[in-house]
Amino acid sequence: MELRIGLGHDTHRLEPGGPLKLGGIDLEFDYHLVGHSDADVLLHAITDALLGAANLGDIGSLYPDSDPANRGRDSAQMLLEAYIRVQRERWHLVNLDCVVLAERPKLLPYRQQIQRRIAELLNIDPQQVGLKGKTGESVGEVGEGRVIQAQCVCLLSR
Ligand code: MG
Repeated sequence: MELRIGLGHDTHRLEPGGPLKLGGIDLEFDYHLVGHSDADVLLHAITDALLGAANLGDIGSLYPDSDPANRGRDSAQMLLEAYIRVQRERWHLVNLDCVVLAERPKLLPYRQQIQRRIAELLNIDPQQVGLKGKTGESVGEVGEGRVIQAQCVCLLSR
């Protein structure tokens, strides 16, 4: 059996006005993330982890921000298309482990809902989706509430 790990990381800027799209769901919050697509920082990190593990490039090469077609693009759709490419190479997703770095909102009340949504998108069990929230301790761009970042590692087997 072959195993591959993948790592994804992403940052998006916060601007006033909710809701906040994170992990494929809309959270009630007074800020939203800004980007060329719908700026779902967690789905972007997961997409890059999957593509990285399979050595199939990254989200920026598949969906360049220079292409107007990608404006406002649904990140769930990008994740699914990347996952299809990964599965086409006969890779099987063993698990994901994700960290969301955000001063606010608290992730805990939404944790299970996000885990379920990600599991649903990838056709895996929510038990295979690790998800943790961390603050920036009021320091730096995360701590000052200017950005939200996400990190993801994944394991593939075939
Ligand atoms: Mg992004």
